[in-house]
Amino acid sequence: MEYDEDDFLMISGIQHFSFCPRQWALIHIDQVWDENMKTMEGNIIHENCHNPDFIEKRGEILISRGIRIASRTLGVTGQCDVVEFHRDDDGGGRLYGHNGLWLPFPIEYKRGKTKDINADRLQLCCQAMCLEEMLGVSIYQGALYYHETHRREPVELTEPLRQEVRKMLEMMHDYFKRGYIPKVRPKKGCPSCSLKEICLPVICKKKSAQPYYEAMLGSDYV
Ligand code: SF4
Repeated sequence: MEYDEDDFLMISGIQHFSFCPRQWALIHIDQVWDENMKTMEGNIIHENCHNPDFIEKRGEILISRGIRIASRTLGVTGQCDVVEFHRDDDGGGRLYGHNGLWLPFPIEYKRGKTKDINADRLQLCCQAMCLEEMLGVSIYQGALYYHETHRREPVELTEPLRQEVRKMLEMMHDYFKRGYIPKVRPKKGCPSCSLKEICLPVICKKKSAQPYYEAMLGSDYV
């Protein structure tokens, strides 16, 4: 099956959906967005990365920023923060204006530090799957760069991670088609959610939401 361009979803939505399907649906279906400090920081980091005019060559590596990507089979579109193209005359693909074959190595820049949940890894994996489809190559690894720790975390693009991407996108397309907004399911990430005042207006007007989260989440509340 191939998706029509009109039905493409944003790749960046994967991290929202992974964190909370309701948050994703409020942003991408209901079109609400509340920019808190964390999302503002994230936007500034990304603005610094996305400069499509800038292609740097370091030895046998080409570095590009802000490449637009898409996949018809996954039905998604988006932008890569940084893609390194490593010279690889066995497994690489052709790049316009450059001799030889080049293998993409996507790098996604993130605020904060590495997380237990797979949200960032799923987004990176989806970017790699788009690049594979566009260039006819196989990509086995990418990396996440965390702004707070200044560390580059290598990510193996395994089959289970790819299956999770496919499954999540199927659900997102289904929700989008039906205009379905999942009900509130309080979780420990709610207090830091950029949409909490829209999602949980009654609770957030109280002096402190802590008793509510403690009651709902018990020992899971941090
Ligand atoms: S406040 Fe909680 S339930 Fe509501 S969108 Fe945010 S994370 Fe999801």
